[in-house]
Amino acid sequence: MTSTRVLVLNSGSSSVKYQLLDMRDNSRLAVGLVERIGEETSRLKHTPLHGGGGTRESNGPIPDHEAALKAVSAELAKDGLGLDSPELAAIGHRVVHGGRTFTEPTVIDEAVLAEIERLIPVAPLHNPANLTGIRTARALRPDLPQVAVFDTAFHTTMPESAARYAIDVQTADEYRIRRYGFHGTSHAFVSRATAELLGRAPEDVNVIVLHLGNGASASAVEKGRCVDTSMGLTPLEGLVMGTRSGDLDPAVIFHLARVGGLSTDEIDTLLNKRSGLIGLCGDNDMREIRRRVDEGDERAQLAFDIYIHRLRKYIGAYYAVLGRVDAVAFTAGVGENAAPVREAAIAGLQELGLAVDAGLNAVRSDEPRLISPAGARVAVAVVPTDEELEIATQTYALVARK
Ligand code: ADP
Repeated sequence: MTSTRVLVLNSGSSSVKYQLLDMRDNSRLAVGLVERIGEETSRLKHTPLHGGGGTRESNGPIPDHEAALKAVSAELAKDGLGLDSPELAAIGHRVVHGGRTFTEPTVIDEAVLAEIERLIPVAPLHNPANLTGIRTARALRPDLPQVAVFDTAFHTTMPESAARYAIDVQTADEYRIRRYGFHGTSHAFVSRATAELLGRAPEDVNVIVLHLGNGASASAVEKGRCVDTSMGLTPLEGLVMGTRSGDLDPAVIFHLARVGGLSTDEIDTLLNKRSGLIGLCGDNDMREIRRRVDEGDERAQLAFDIYIHRLRKYIGAYYAVLGRVDAVAFTAGVGENAAPVREAAIAGLQELGLAVDAGLNAVRSDEPRLISPAGARVAVAVVPTDEELEIATQTYALVARK
């Protein structure tokens, strides 16, 4: 096969993020994003990375996803990389929820689309947007293989003891209530890259992955397979995030409804959009929070402390889940960049074989690296995630095999 390019699409309700990769050397040919689809102020930002030319930006109404993808294709075409190019081997779509059905990346056909649609009740915000992106791309290139790569797939190996909530089994099954987990593409990529950094096979190592972006999740990966993760039925469970509360007593919700008179939608918005770091201190960007902490701001300090406390609880919990830990890997925006978060998360855990070397932790780099002292029993690593590369790799592996 001579077609070696893969277009990765991440379609949100009002945005499309994309990257075009060449799988011969995993290089990026172009990256970009369409924002505010459906509004008057839509914006397309396109950066060709192959040959000259800087970022091009265009503003003006883009009414729907079809218009957005056509505009993206037109931009790519200006660089000789249009959607109609014979060198395009496939399109890989990020799909948030694959339920229990999709344990692997899957070539999309009508039956796959129907199943993604059937899962909308458990992913009402994400799956409809992902579906729109897929349908639009299929209409533009019906002949091209298109692959769905699911955020939940890596977590489908979780044992029932980790995946089930302790609620009435019949009710849980009727409504498909269980812990699915998200960020799976990142957890898969980072756990593998961590094994590589240690010079070992993924099947030989146990890793705790801490994906700390605006959304955040932890996972326990045993011999390359996920055995527990902190997000649940939805991405609300687990760590303190930029705008999500993470774990809380579910009775908080009854209390807000009964005593506070809040509606279900209001509580949903409160916990998903106005909680976490932003709810605690008014900022969700860790850079800003650290700046405020350094100035002695008490609210920012408390938000930071709550964030770290939750993170340490999960490190301890997953240590116990795994029994033996070879590495703890930090990734995503906060994990890759915020040295004070890494330092505070690991401080005082020498008894568990965990320590961070201050000098190594302060180094800034885009490469996977160890930040634990030489000879440490458990490696502590910073491993930049690359979800687009992982989606492209999985997509290409599937279509190149055919
Ligand atoms: P998303 O979940 O949106 O994909 P990212 O993984 O890109 O998020 O992470 C975004 C977050 O990373 C920002 O909200 C910010 O808190 C944090 N971040 C980015 N750069 C830095 C930095 N240099 N120092 C500290 N935090 C950072």
